[in-house]
Amino acid sequence: MNEVDLDMLKERINIVEYIGQFVHLEFNNGEWWGLCPFHDEKTPSFDVNEEKRSYYCHGCKNGGTIIDFASNYYKISVAQAIEKLAEEFKISRNKIPSLMRISKKFAPKKPDKKVIIPTEYIEDPITNTKNRISKSGLQKASNKA
Ligand SMILES: [Zn+2]
Repeated sequence: MNEVDLDMLKERINIVEYIGQFVHLEFNNGEWWGLCPFHDEKTPSFDVNEEKRSYYCHGCKNGGTIIDFASNYYKISVAQAIEKLAEEFKISRNKIPSLMRISKKFAPKKPDKKVIIPTEYIEDPITNTKNRISKSGLQKASNKA
């Protein structure tokens, strides 16, 4: 649990975006307002302050950080909430650059092959090319067999 950087967690996850997944929020007077998910109400008294990275319900007095929200919303302990947020955070980070991940996946293969080629072949570019051809030819032949 100590491995999770709480400040980073609170900083990196936008509390408005996060709570906005569960509560419909509308911007008014510098804060985001919505119907409190912790008690029944018809007029919004639940506010989220993006700057302070906190939320507060003026009805049921439930409030705190994004960690407190997750803890209260999922009815889990604060420790579990931290774990959950850290996990979700990693997932969302990986989701974004899917194309980058694909190119990264293929990129390291080229340098790896270069490393495998013995230095004596690298010295002579012609021999190197020939060796590569014969190498791939060999691979194809062995694949068939
Ligand atoms: Zn409330």
